Order: sequence, then C-alpha cells, then structure tokens
Amino acid sequence: MSVIQSFNPSDGSLLGEVSVADEGAISRAVQRADEVFRASWRDSSFADRSRLFRKLRRLVVTKHRALAELVAKEQGKPFVEVLAAEVFPVLDTLSFLAQRGPRILRDRRAPHLQPFLAGRKARFRMRPFGVVAVISPWNYPLSLPLCQIATAIYAGNTVVFKPSPLTPLVGEAIVELFHDAGFDEGVLSIVHGGADVGEALIDQEKVRLVSFTGGTTGGRGVMAAAARGPKKVLLELGGKDPAIVLEDADLERTARGIAWSSMMNAGQTCASIERVFVAKSIYDQLVERLTSEVAKIRIGDPLSDETDMGPLVADFQRDKVLAHIEDARTRGGEIATGGGRRSDCGELFLEPTVLLSPPRDGLVSCEETFGPLLSVEPVEDDAEALLRANETAFGLTASVWSRNHERARRLSEKLECGVVTVNSHLTSFAEPNSIWGGVKASGFGRTHGPFGLLEAVQPQYLDADHSSRPEMWWYPYTPRFLGILEELFTFLGSSSARVRIASALRFVPQLGYLAKHLPIFRMGPGLSRYLR
Ligand code: NAD
Repeated sequence: MSVIQSFNPSDGSLLGEVSVADEGAISRAVQRADEVFRASWRDSSFADRSRLFRKLRRLVVTKHRALAELVAKEQGKPFVEVLAAEVFPVLDTLSFLAQRGPRILRDRRAPHLQPFLAGRKARFRMRPFGVVAVISPWNYPLSLPLCQIATAIYAGNTVVFKPSPLTPLVGEAIVELFHDAGFDEGVLSIVHGGADVGEALIDQEKVRLVSFTGGTTGGRGVMAAAARGPKKVLLELGGKDPAIVLEDADLERTARGIAWSSMMNAGQTCASIERVFVAKSIYDQLVERLTSEVAKIRIGDPLSDETDMGPLVADFQRDKVLAHIEDARTRGGEIATGGGRRSDCGELFLEPTVLLSPPRDGLVSCEETFGPLLSVEPVEDDAEALLRANETAFGLTASVWSRNHERARRLSEKLECGVVTVNSHLTSFAEPNSIWGGVKASGFGRTHGPFGLLEAVQPQYLDADHSSRPEMWWYPYTPRFLGILEELFTFLGSSSARVRIASALRFVPQLGYLAKHLPIFRMGPGLSRYLR
C-alpha cells in the first residue's frame, strides 16, 4: 500500500504519513456514505443537525490551538493567520448553518400562476443530492474543506472528502472533529491521494455532486470526469485578482490594505491581489508607500509571534513564483522591493516582491502566480483601469479603492468577477452570510451563505391535485377543447377591446363545461392576471 508523507515546509521535517486510498477503499467509503444517507441522514431533522453543529463548533473552539498549530506546521501560514483566516470563518459558518440553515432549506409554498391548474397544492422542497465528493487544495486546508463539508452535510448530504496530498494531516483532523462531535462515520469519511484518487472518487456512480476547489487545470479535469456521470460540479478555481486605486483613495489605508491582501499566506490565496492599477496622478506616492509596507513584512517561523509571512508550501510553488519574476525581469519589469529567495530562513522562503512595469503579455500578467508577488501599473482613467482589470481569463474577486462610494460602486458593476469589495480585499470570505465563487476561468457555483447552501440541494417540486374531476385536456381530445384553446388565442392575441369583448361573449356558452372541468371559481385574480 502506498503512502503520502507530509512535510513541514518551514524546515523540511517529516510530520506524518497517511495511506493512499485504492479503488476498493474509495468504493467502500462511497458505499457507506450512500447507506447512511438513505438510512438516516437525509431524514434527520434540522434540530438534530443544528445540535450536532453546535457541538462541532464547541469542539473547534476547544481545540483551536492544536488545529492552528497543525495548519501552521503543515501548510506554513503564521499561527495568528490560521486563527483569523481559518478558524474564525469555520466557527462563523457552523453558527450560520445551525441558526439560518432551517430557514434557507425549509419547504416553500408554490402558488399556481397558470389558472387552469388552480386548486392544486404545490411546494418547493430542498432535497439533498446524496453522496458529495469534496476535493480540496492545500492553501486553506482547514477552512475551505470544513466549510464546504459542513454546508453539504447540513443540507442532508453525506460526504467523502479528499484533501490535498500536501495537507493530509489537517484533513484527518477535520474528520476527527466531526466524529468526536457525534457524526456517524458514514456522514463524513476521507480518502487520501492525488488527482487520480480524486478522479476515481468522482467516477463512483453514487457520488452525485462534486464540490471542487483547486487550480483551473484541475477544474477542467474534474469537469471532464463529472461529465461522464453526468453529475453536478461546483468549481472554485484560480484567480488573478485586480485592485483599482482611484486618485481620491486614502493612500495610507490603501497601501496597507493592498500589502496585506496580496501577501498574506505568502500570496497563496486564490483571491490574493496580484495586479494593481492605479491612477497616474498618485502612482508614485502609492508605489512608495506600498513598497515600504511590503519591505516591512517579517519572514520566518510560522509558529513565532513575530512572523508575518512563512514559507511557500513546496518547491514547485516557490519555483513558479521565481519563474514569474524572472520572466518579468527579462522583459523590462522593474523590481521595487524583494525579488529573491530568503535562504537564511529555509529552502522555501521568498522575499515579498513588488514589480513595476510588468510585461503585459508576461506570465505575471496572464497566469496565476500564487505567491508573494504583486505588480503595479499606472492607468490614465477609469476606463483603462476596467479594461486592464478584466483582461485576464480569470474573474474571482476584485477591489476598488476610493473615498467616493458612488464612483466606486459604479465602477464595481463593470468588474467581471464573483465578489467585489470597496476599500478592502479578501475579507468578505470571513462573512458567513456572503458568497464565494468566480466567473470565467475562476469557475462557477457558489459556496458560503444562503446561495452556497442552496447549491447543496436540488429543489424538488411537489404538485398535488386532490380533485375527482378528469382534466379537460386528457383523452379523448374534443372539438370543444380545441375551440376553447383557439378562442383563448383570439382573446390573448388582440389588444382591441371590441374583439376581446366579442371573444369573451363566445366563452359564455362554454361556462358550464369549464366549470365542470376546472376549479374556475378559484381562479379569480390569477385568471385576470393571465388574461391581461
Ligand atoms: P490543484 O488543482 O492542483 O488540486 C486541488 C485538489 O484537487 C487536490 O486535492 C488535488 O489532488 C485534486 N485534483 C487535482 N486535479 C484533479 C483531477 N483532475 N481530478 C480530481 N481531483 C483533482 O490545486 P492546488 O495546487 O491544491 O491549490 C491551488 C489552487 O487552488 C490555486 O489555483 C488556487 O487559486 C485555487 N484555489 C481556489 C479557491 C477558490 O475558492 N476559488 C480557493 C483556494 C484555492
């Protein structure tokens, strides 16, 4: 049996290992998840689900220190960042689901608008899919999967979870939390491995929904695998987020905000700011402040209280960032600060870098860097800023920095992305009542908040007719029924009052027949709306 070893990116030490799931293990996990779904979980009450979610939340609070240490060690973001950017969003999402879930998922009455169908009773019911595959990346190994797993499970699904092979131990910790809180082992189980294990999981017939977070290349593979089902996919993919800085921006707040939003987690956030477009008149001032903020970032051990930035997760990620810097440098890009490695801290540490005059067709402008590298460019006006912001294949999130709320709001409407923020970036992820997700190559489908919860269910329509009369459109078709339809078209097709009155009068002899076949007296306002 093959294993995945997990290493600490700060010092290369071995943290532990897990077994890679083979075909049999994947199939057993899905089988068990399906059995538990059918036998109990889909029919569990919201009250029972909320009770378990509150217990899970208390457990996360109790274990927050151990969880944050594990993430800092296995993935490399500073301890304080894990608490703020991973543990808190988890707590808030669990509360959101426990409190608001029942209202969002409740059945809704569905009044009939078609007058011929009046008298029936209908409801929209939010039915779970069944077994959901949650496939996750390494950059937020706690909050991303846990929030998606919790959302799927609250909606009545069961989950088989495949964490990133770079952060399998955090994956194990998530599953342990659910089991300690009292969730049945079939409600959430885990399989380890890489893309091949992910695809084998998606290929399992009983997996009905795939909630995937990862790169755009992985997303394409996932979608192709899901198409074989076919089964629904939610794709939360990469980004190349822009920030637009207008000439009336508060420079101090903007420089600090952009420095943090591009460099936190060493820039390894899907929604990191990677490109800044700034009004020409304040370009020099912003570059000076931004460079000074970025140069102050303290690099070191993620477990130290004095560290702002840890290592990159692995050598391939470090090398990608260095390749983007080198590509820009050889094509006229200018390094304002950073640009190299911090080998004194360890193999995977890089200097946070601000790049000026990035080549427009270079890697740094077109591809996701996913590291501590930020490019800044001057723009003539709002139109150029928008053009540049929207010109990549991606569209995850974007921000506008300005003191003029109305102008920022107008500009934000034209940004092609799933989330727009004004005078902040990234932090909307911490709001459990928001949405998360992108457009274009950043994917589709939404996680978070009410829309995220509704992605985890398929609305079912229940339409009940308890009358004893046969419908007039059932066999045999009669000339009378045809006449009624034709008369209706005459009525609907004319705007002349004279023609409509004449048509209505021709209906009079049919009233007895209509009354026998239709609950005509219940149509009331519905009928007049329909005939308008
Ligand atoms: P990745 O696509 O390489 O892998 C993500 C997960 O998918 C892993 O568990 C991997 O094993 C699995 N996987 C990869 N290809 C697969 C396939 N064809 N079939 C099934 N499973 C497959 O991404 P990564 O390097 O782990 O994470 C970084 C990427 O994730 C970045 O591009 C980042 O922008 C993106 N990301 C997006 C969001 C978002 O919310 N939009 C959030 C975090 C990260």
